[in-house]
Amino acid sequence: MLENQSLDRIQQIHVPETMKAVIIREHGGPEVLNFEEIATPCPGPGEVLIKVEATALNHLDIFARKGLKGPGVPEITLPHISGVDIVGTVSHYGPPLPGQKDGPKQGERVIINPAIGCNECRFCRRGEPSMCPNYQILGEHFWGGLAEYVVAPARNIIPVPSHIPSEVAAAIPVVYTTAWRGVMTVAQVNPSDVVLVVGASGGLGSAQVEIAAAAGATVIGIASTREKRQKALEKGAVAMFDSNGDWEAEVMDWTNGQGVCATFDAVGAPTIRKSLRCLEMGGKLVLSGATAGDSPELSIREIYQRHRRILGAPMGNWEDFLQVTNLIWKGKLTPTIHKVYPLEEIVEAQLELEERKHFGKIVIKLVE
Ligand SMILES: [Zn+2]
Repeated sequence: MLENQSLDRIQQIHVPETMKAVIIREHGGPEVLNFEEIATPCPGPGEVLIKVEATALNHLDIFARKGLKGPGVPEITLPHISGVDIVGTVSHYGPPLPGQKDGPKQGERVIINPAIGCNECRFCRRGEPSMCPNYQILGEHFWGGLAEYVVAPARNIIPVPSHIPSEVAAAIPVVYTTAWRGVMTVAQVNPSDVVLVVGASGGLGSAQVEIAAAAGATVIGIASTREKRQKALEKGAVAMFDSNGDWEAEVMDWTNGQGVCATFDAVGAPTIRKSLRCLEMGGKLVLSGATAGDSPELSIREIYQRHRRILGAPMGNWEDFLQVTNLIWKGKLTPTIHKVYPLEEIVEAQLELEERKHFGKIVIKLVE
């Protein structure tokens, strides 16, 4: 039996020697994205080769292309293939590690948890790879899913049920895991809470709106256009304000001068001070990104004199990933897909993300 299983595992289905990929050989604008035919990678011990079906875009793709530098930003080694949110089918496994469990079978459709830890430190043992001192992200530290094939750690894949389209599953790993972590695990939002989502139209913001509303909270948010605000209302928000207007005053008005229990902000420097000032006494500011700037001006007195708390929520642990994924499989949460592009239109897709014209996720589909 064991012999059969290991034979199964190393039996190879046909994999072409080369694959199409979007390669970054130098940092810069969308013009540095090159379509190339390169050697198909080979899975090493404990790894699996995945034939990519869909990859959702994130601001991480833009940062990798531009070569963003700063505290907490990993240096991208060139040449690089970005793409963190990956759905595909199992092609074949590399040699198993001692004690490695059988994973999904060849041809089975899977989603990849891109959070990679050392598996040995005390954080990894708690299932918290994003707390690992050697935390790495597939698509950032390793080549990602903007290619026909990608190599991933075998332990990082879970099956996708047949009723879930690949573009929907691709929306889960980064934004839904991060949103679940922030809203449920970190802020521990309750039905009696009023919460504010800053940047409610992005992939992360729309997921935060949906999860907080599903948890029973009263959700308000800000977004830049009437259309985006309307979509956020459909996602579960009860009031939306214009991010170009005086939204701090509007939030305080709407809450009768009380402020909100929690604010979720992944925009960063341009919004964080207002996000803090919208908090009630003892309120929580949950930070999951700094997509528009990393070094804000803050008032320390505005934080401590009002018992406010600032909490970080980057990605999530295995439990966060599995819990939110399960709710999406059950139809309790439904990621909004803004648009699906073929790989050949990666430039248009990245520009749309960069110009923040979207509501929800932008997905690159490689297999129809
Ligand atoms: Zn570790």
